[in-house]
Amino acid sequence: MSAIKLDGQALAKTLRAETAAAVAKHVAAGGRAPGLAAVLVGDNPASEVYVRNKRTACEDAGMASWLHRLPADASQQQLLDLVARLNADPAVSGILVQLPLPKHMDEAAVIRAVSPAKDVDCFHPENVGLLAAGHPRFLPCTPFGVQQMLARNNVPTAGKNVVVVGRSNIVGKPMALILMQKPTAAFPEAGDATVTVVHRGTRDLAAVTRQADVLIAAVGVARFVTGDMVKPGAAVIDVGINSVGGKIVGDVDAATVEPVAGWLSPVPKGVGPMTITMLLHNTLKAAR
Ligand code: NAP
Repeated sequence: MSAIKLDGQALAKTLRAETAAAVAKHVAAGGRAPGLAAVLVGDNPASEVYVRNKRTACEDAGMASWLHRLPADASQQQLLDLVARLNADPAVSGILVQLPLPKHMDEAAVIRAVSPAKDVDCFHPENVGLLAAGHPRFLPCTPFGVQQMLARNNVPTAGKNVVVVGRSNIVGKPMALILMQKPTAAFPEAGDATVTVVHRGTRDLAAVTRQADVLIAAVGVARFVTGDMVKPGAAVIDVGINSVGGKIVGDVDAATVEPVAGWLSPVPKGVGPMTITMLLHNTLKAAR
């Protein structure tokens, strides 16, 4: 058996075209073009690349985009003042403060300063609370991308066992929140699955992952999930982005998992392009 490839790049192209068409319709109906303001503090090279890709994607979808740069030694107050200006600017639909911030800044305070209505990353506690309560305003971009990758490829989650490896606020925890909940009119993306989250505190992690019909790896450890940890025929989603010897590799060991799994998302060209795609989706939603 050889896993079906879940091609994130091709799906991202389709979804971005859908968003671009929806933006054009919104503008034709007299709406203001959605706009994303990105804030970059310091000169982290990886963050520079992420922000550049996000801006290009916005422009391709017919959205406005702005980049606000602050030096690495900017004060927390300077950043909070900038966020306050963007909160008040009607041309700005979405605000993205690129993380990580320099060590002297309080990330949680900055996240709380972004207006929840413009929090297209869905990091603000109000938006996290709405998601947990089952009526989300936004879905966080990476787990939303994974949900779309499953749904649009007709990989079922309802009634299935889903195991998420990793419990970060950005990926693992919201991933579990999306897939465990009951679908409703307010939350059609909810997965209706039985979800288990595993982490460093889990005993016999491989015994748990082998129960998964859908296994999602968000570990941050190169090639962590190996073939012997996967149930034959399972859908395996690799969220990982790790640099090994100048090459980008995922959290899944594709060489051993590919022959066992039913579906597998590649790295690169898997979840990565989906994350930016869902950011565009959220920015349009914020504008509406
Ligand atoms: P993170 O904050 O470092 O969280 C990693 C999680 O994995 C933690 O919950 C940690 O457990 C768990 N973990 C780490 N080592 C483990 C081990 N040996 N055994 C069991 N659990 C272990 O990472 P993240 O932000 O969620 O990101 C995860 C991966 O996704 C990274 O490779 C990152 O680059 C990638 N990522 C990709 C995208 C994208 O757009 N494709 C977006 C975001 C992140 P503890 O809680 O017990 O420490």
